[in-house]
Amino acid sequence: MKQKENGVWVSWNENLKHNYKSLFKITTENELQDVIANNDKIRFFGNKQSSADIAAGTNALLDMKTYNKIVSYNYNDKTITVQSGVILGDLLEAIEKVGWCIPCLPDINTVTVGGALATGTHGTSGKLLSEYITSCRLVLADGSVKEIKSSDELMNAVKVSLGMLGVLSEITFKCETEYTLHVKERPENDKEWLPKIKDRLKQHDFLRVLWLPHTSKGYVITGDKIDKDKEINVNNGPKYLKHRRTASKILYKYSHKFPWITAIANNILAKAFFSSKKEHKGSLYQATVTKSRGSTLELAEWTIGLDKFPQVFKELKEEVNKWDNKSFIHIPMDVRFVQKDNAWLSYAYKEDIVTMGCVSRNAATADTYEAFKSVERIFLKHGGRPHWGKRFAAKDAQLSKIYPKWEDFKELRRELDPTNKFLNPYLSKLVNEKKLANVKKSIA
Ligand SMILES: Cc1cc2nc3c(=O)[nH]c(=O)nc-3n(C[C@H](O)[C@H](O)[C@H](O)COP(=O)(O)OP(=O)(O)OC[C@H]3O[C@@H](n4cnc5c(N)ncnc54)[C@H](O)[C@@H]3O)c2cc1C
Repeated sequence: MKQKENGVWVSWNENLKHNYKSLFKITTENELQDVIANNDKIRFFGNKQSSADIAAGTNALLDMKTYNKIVSYNYNDKTITVQSGVILGDLLEAIEKVGWCIPCLPDINTVTVGGALATGTHGTSGKLLSEYITSCRLVLADGSVKEIKSSDELMNAVKVSLGMLGVLSEITFKCETEYTLHVKERPENDKEWLPKIKDRLKQHDFLRVLWLPHTSKGYVITGDKIDKDKEINVNNGPKYLKHRRTASKILYKYSHKFPWITAIANNILAKAFFSSKKEHKGSLYQATVTKSRGSTLELAEWTIGLDKFPQVFKELKEEVNKWDNKSFIHIPMDVRFVQKDNAWLSYAYKEDIVTMGCVSRNAATADTYEAFKSVERIFLKHGGRPHWGKRFAAKDAQLSKIYPKWEDFKELRRELDPTNKFLNPYLSKLVNEKKLANVKKSIA
């Protein structure tokens, strides 16, 4: 086990910084248990890519990235067991080598598996990544290990739990046989793509819409499973398309000072980068997941029941199109679709949902990005839920209204972590633990 003393923890986009006294790196489950058992307060982090302040903020910290082995394959069950600090891209390459896939992937491959699961990371046209877990080992606050199977109700609490119930140690995923996706991309007016959502979800194996605020257009990406040898008319669009993110960064450079610039920039970006059709094929991972990003950004994302989406979209569009407020939104707002599940803190708890991303391409000025506040207000009004790993302001009072199992989760958390070992200041506010501590004191 390695240990560093007194340093500063910095998130990937440098918006979060915390001093720490001890930073541990581990490679075995025994070391993981020792570190957890022997520290009164501790947080553990993956690749630090969350915007929410959930990964550090305690004197002791544990870097999970060295806990990253592929442990075993079970060829009969098509399952793979990994240590939780493995990078998602490494896991996906390992399963592609044996002809398998996980059928719903986020648009990022640099996150750790433990970090991704903890925040309910998802892709589109399938379930949250955590729904593909068949079993896991959880290191509890006292350092003991609990083995959890997918049939246990505890699994529904642990699957998405922001590392508040324990540290995920080894995780087993159920995989499927790898398939080839025939991907088609094209621009469409809002009037065209919006009413077609439900039909397209039935027709296609993959659906994602990159909405282009202030242009009344979306960029629709569909995918259909095909035989891997089927010939298609490959069209990757003009070569300059690969410079989209750099062009966005330049055009949005002063948008924090003059937010209205965004509307003009979006129209230029839409014409230059989202007006051509594309067609290609590949595995879900190869054909749809972004492998490198030129610069950091700041993210929020909200989710809403599929049936409520058209109304929320209408209100959001009206709001951002008003020139009398500062809610201008950078391109694109990523619209994706997730199927219902039973995980207590899942956005898709017992209902099919639509997720809508909101990006600020200028991470350093994200605090002044009015759009984050407007999007949150509109989604919350309709019972929408925030992505746990991204930026939002809602706390316990709002969360208890939108998550039917919120109070059960809090009760379980208190049972499994009675000394609040795993709570940092942000998480304490999220579960209103300060108030609880006061209540306990006044009762005593
Ligand atoms: C560019 C970009 C693209 C993204 N795309 C998507 C997307 O397509 N879909 C989506 O849903 N999300 C997406 N995200 C969000 C991202 O998946 C989450 O923020 C994820 O949690 C980041 O993983 P990480 O390894 O960096 O974890 P960190 O940010 O380091 O940690 C996140 C949380 O996980 C906890 N944690 C870490 N390891 C463990 C463990 N072993 N056991 C228990 N808890 C643990 C941490 O304590 C913390 O609370 C994106 C983020 C970025 C920056």
